[in-house]
Amino acid sequence: MLTRPSHDVVVIGAGVVGAACAYYAAEAGLSVAVVDRGPVAGGTTGAGEGNLLLSDKEPGPELDLALLSSRLWTELAGRLPAAVEYEPKGGLVVASDPRRLEALRAFAAGQAAAGVKAEEVAGERLRELEPHLAPGLAGGFHYAQDAQVQPALAAAHLLRAARQRGAELYLGEAVTGLPTGPGGAVRGVRTARRELAAGAVVNAAGTWGGELAALAGVNLPVLPRRGFVLVTEPLPRVVRHKVYAADYVADVASGSAALQTSAVVEGTPSGPVLIGASRERVGFDRTLSPEVLRRLAAQAAELFPVLARVRVLRAYRGFRPYLPDHLPAIGADPRAPGLYHACGHEGAGIGLAPATGLLIARQLTGARPDLDLAPFRPDRFPA
Ligand SMILES: Cc1cc2nc3c(=O)[nH]c(=O)nc-3n(C[C@H](O)[C@H](O)[C@H](O)COP(=O)(O)OP(=O)(O)OC[C@H]3O[C@@H](n4cnc5c(N)ncnc54)[C@H](O)[C@@H]3O)c2cc1C
Repeated sequence: MLTRPSHDVVVIGAGVVGAACAYYAAEAGLSVAVVDRGPVAGGTTGAGEGNLLLSDKEPGPELDLALLSSRLWTELAGRLPAAVEYEPKGGLVVASDPRRLEALRAFAAGQAAAGVKAEEVAGERLRELEPHLAPGLAGGFHYAQDAQVQPALAAAHLLRAARQRGAELYLGEAVTGLPTGPGGAVRGVRTARRELAAGAVVNAAGTWGGELAALAGVNLPVLPRRGFVLVTEPLPRVVRHKVYAADYVADVASGSAALQTSAVVEGTPSGPVLIGASRERVGFDRTLSPEVLRRLAAQAAELFPVLARVRVLRAYRGFRPYLPDHLPAIGADPRAPGLYHACGHEGAGIGLAPATGLLIARQLTGARPDLDLAPFRPDRFPA
């Protein structure tokens, strides 16, 4: 058994959330170690899309977190290499009929009051923003703050920056235990190869965050919510913004285990168009579902008829870390001193990662948090 000198904090998980926690903790001057059982971004971070969205969030704690994160992503874009493919491209949400447009209007008014920039676009002007959009749509809203990154590269570069500030990275090592000290406080992590002693442990294990919590004897009901994404052949820029139909917002907020699809379409700097994403709770079932892929493709072609003639190169799936109230768990766990959680971000973990990392670093150093952490308390679920 190898042992190492103490760290201030060990972060479990080298996905985008763990990477952001490591980045901000190292920036705050803490000594950091990151442990992952696989490679960097080998979990959901490597199996999602990179949308940084305000447009799909209703006013409330998640939107507050997203607003903070949106500012931080802009800052990070200036600090991290261009390879993270940060694109402040804006989002366009469209409504097919006047009833849906009216609902969108009410939704956008609430968001605007919370600080989101949302500008109505009349039906006849939509194609000025997106020339290939289907004709006859009732109208939509342009969200200037919506942006995009390449998630795996963003995680890798956040970790690289953390390592430049002294963070250590242990890959290919599963955490199998959380050793405790006096009074039962969590005092580090155990893998098959070593024990890392630390003053604090951050659970950034994403969809597997519940299993990590259980190692400390506490309940955190993280469940997988499966999503498929279609990847087209490389195309010239036929889709300029992140574009989706108004129905998507209801799907995101749904707590149903049943299948929901409403296509979200976006171009990428390298050419392929990404068409995501379905939502269903079917455990960790990796079976490809042609029915889901057909539905996504049909909805994308409804929005952009030009896509009907484009080949799909591949499809992939991932498992979003779902908590029953759709909010992540962020902060110290009063049931297990020394243990902090930063997981359960469902379909928004790429967007919400920087704010999560910063808030965790603030708590670890005893600094004032940038926003109220109460809605994200990890002990808010019944045992
Ligand atoms: C189809 C799809 C589309 C999506 N699109 C978007 C989007 O556009 N925008 C957005 O913001 N979000 C999106 N998401 C959600 C986003 O991908 C996730 O919220 C985010 O990646 C979660 O990051 P994470 O770091 O918490 O988890 P992960 O990336 O899963 O990282 C957790 C890590 O913990 C490690 N781990 C687990 N258990 C252990 C253990 N015992 N010991 C050591 N390591 C362990 C895992 O190996 C893993 O690397 C999408 C998700 C899917 C599936």
